[in-house]
Amino acid sequence: MVKNAVPRPLDLAHHIAGRSVGSPRTFTSRNPAHRDQVVAVVARGGAEEVNLAVQAARSALPGWRRTPWPVRGEILLRAAELLAARKEELARLMTREMGKVLTESRGDVQEAIDMGRFIAGAGRRAFGETVPSELPDKWAMTVRQPLGVVGCITPWNFPIAIPSWKIFPAVMAGNTVVFKPAEDTPACAMAFVEVLEAAGLPPGVVNVVFGMGEECGAEVVAHPGVDAVSFTGSVATGRVVAETCGRLLKKVSLELGGKNGIVVLADADLELALDGALWGGFGTSGQRCTATSRVIVERPVLDAFTHAFAERVAGLRLGDGLEEGVTVGPIVNQRQLERVDSYTRSGRAEGARILVGGEVATEGRLAEGWFYRPTVYADVSPQMRIAQEEIFGPAVAVIPAPDADSAIGIANGTAYGLSLSIYTRDLARAFHAMSDLEAGIVYVNAPTIGAEIQLPFGGVKQTGNGHREAGSAALDEFSEWKSIYVDYSGRLQRAQIDTSR
Ligand code: ADP
Repeated sequence: MVKNAVPRPLDLAHHIAGRSVGSPRTFTSRNPAHRDQVVAVVARGGAEEVNLAVQAARSALPGWRRTPWPVRGEILLRAAELLAARKEELARLMTREMGKVLTESRGDVQEAIDMGRFIAGAGRRAFGETVPSELPDKWAMTVRQPLGVVGCITPWNFPIAIPSWKIFPAVMAGNTVVFKPAEDTPACAMAFVEVLEAAGLPPGVVNVVFGMGEECGAEVVAHPGVDAVSFTGSVATGRVVAETCGRLLKKVSLELGGKNGIVVLADADLELALDGALWGGFGTSGQRCTATSRVIVERPVLDAFTHAFAERVAGLRLGDGLEEGVTVGPIVNQRQLERVDSYTRSGRAEGARILVGGEVATEGRLAEGWFYRPTVYADVSPQMRIAQEEIFGPAVAVIPAPDADSAIGIANGTAYGLSLSIYTRDLARAFHAMSDLEAGIVYVNAPTIGAEIQLPFGGVKQTGNGHREAGSAALDEFSEWKSIYVDYSGRLQRAQIDTSR
């Protein structure tokens, strides 16, 4: 193939019970760096296709939940190794489909590989408890049970990693899945499911339905044959999903937005903090739920930090993430691009200074895509919208703090609580911050991004509803405990009554 030749658009149908199922209507996914390049023409599903997928998942459920845990684990391990073998190809597809630079796309696929290897181990490690009974000749224990059919609804920013965080543990625990990926990244989603089936996952265990949120995702959430929903996305949509699930008394786990911040204290290693803020703020063009969108800087180092930060940000190179030397890729779509720009206008109106960036970039080939100049807002006060609301773009607000305690207060002063970080050389301050920062994930001397899959991931406050993904919590989201008592005494024994003394 000629280097950099544009591949032909893929034709994607829904994947139900191991077969391709079309829809009369289609939509397209596009390369955000060259929006005229269509990556895939995709079947656009609704109630009918969701219903077929739910039926397929229900039919596959009895056989799959009876499949021994270690056998399920072996399939997942094979899937992880197939992902590893196809890593480069999948990473390139990802960069074309949603724009993040190639090194980061490789990281996204690697996260799925890590998750697969990690969860596969649960096949021989899904321990329950055996606890002594209070009565003689009675056995007491717990086992994990699957929830049934799980609806997995995912966003576009980690198009393989996030599905892997949900689907690997869901099927490991014996559930079957209806997967509704984001409309911006259907090709990545399909590639992930192809890998699962190539690894030996039986047809119908994971079914994919493509479509729009309101007409397809909402059907998955509301379908009576779906027992639980695992959702990652925006707060606004999460609220709608939670309302439906609340009404239907359906289990739901939500992983929503963030307004993550780095606290830089006066005693910090400033070079290290600058590296962290740059990577945390502009990795994936700021389109991560853990992106650093605030840097809260203690007064004595405010000028030095802000000046050096703006200089570094100005040196970032925008472009197609497949090109060598590009450090920041495009914004995923026009709507998001406009949203980021609207925050710049809001910041300006509220009195922030735009130190660098602050506009759509259109020079040369950038005009072919959706690019926003990496942006730094200075003189930001904590109550401004750019300091409170999730921007999801390459824009970082620098917020001055008079002292260390108020810096922690400012860091905590948003509706969200996903990821917070502190840069300091003072051990006592670091340990106080580890306890006082209100977030599901806290970093010391590292930016707000960089979660590893062997630890739980999720946030407090409006970032979610108390669930965690990955790590030791991975199976909790997708299983329920069953307590089992076996009485082999041969007579009626009454707990709390026969034992009262
Ligand atoms: P964003 O578009 O900002 O990434 P969303 O929360 O809208 O965030 O989207 C995340 C996922 O939720 C996508 O797969 C989207 O299609 C889906 N979605 C959007 N609206 C709904 C809805 N009302 N019900 C279920 N899923 C939805």
